[in-house]
Amino acid sequence: MPELPDVETFKRYLDATSLHQQISGVDVESAYVLKGVSARELAHRLKGRCFESSRRHGKHLFVRADGELWLRLHFGMTGSLQYFKRGEQASKHTRVLFVFASTHCLAFEDQRKFGEVGLVKDVDEFLKKRALGPDALDLSLSLFRQIFEKHRGAVKAILLNQKLIAGIGNIYADEILFRARLHPAIEISRVGDKALTKLFRATHYILRKAIAAKADVNQMPKSWLLPHRGKHGKCPRCGRELKSSRIGGRTAWFCPHCQRRTA
Ligand SMILES: [Zn+2]
Repeated sequence: MPELPDVETFKRYLDATSLHQQISGVDVESAYVLKGVSARELAHRLKGRCFESSRRHGKHLFVRADGELWLRLHFGMTGSLQYFKRGEQASKHTRVLFVFASTHCLAFEDQRKFGEVGLVKDVDEFLKKRALGPDALDLSLSLFRQIFEKHRGAVKAILLNQKLIAGIGNIYADEILFRARLHPAIEISRVGDKALTKLFRATHYILRKAIAAKADVNQMPKSWLLPHRGKHGKCPRCGRELKSSRIGGRTAWFCPHCQRRTA
């Protein structure tokens, strides 16, 4: 499921391939992913324009098509982008195809169709309306502290709550907690000041490193949880078997030996 590092990787990919080319058409293969816009309107509004720049907030990607028009992309569970030469076979999971006047096109692919494609006039207004929290990489330590001081419950639930902190999903929340050596079920009230600072640093470290690795598991350090999570996986730190448990409706992977319930 695409999280902040994945979406940042899509952003960089789009920036490197798809800007400043006139859009000659938009083919909607599945209107199911369109939100608040029809296939006809999407094509009509974008045709003749160019994508000029992009902006990411949490798991959302916004692509500016002109002063007051932004394409909004959310990658749901299985969304991704693919830039390719016209005439080459598009993936069967292509839902929306942006065709450029040059020789190429950009496909929004999404096997499970939980993704979203829409248009927005004002990105900040959209973020406000959705009540999304600050982007996880824009957070300062003091704001991070404030968020945790104001809320109760499991630390992992706070990390996952897009209305408090935008961008972190199940996989990277587990990775951040593993690095900070905190148990995923640990309650905020049991996390001291020092541990909270450690958690903040781990959040930035993991997200930045994952972006540098292009969110590709094969490029992640072997000392991370990610290459080992899953049945019979062993903790890369102590070698003991990893455990999983349902926390906040999601499956958490962790090492019961290395990750503490009080800190
Ligand atoms: Zn361990």
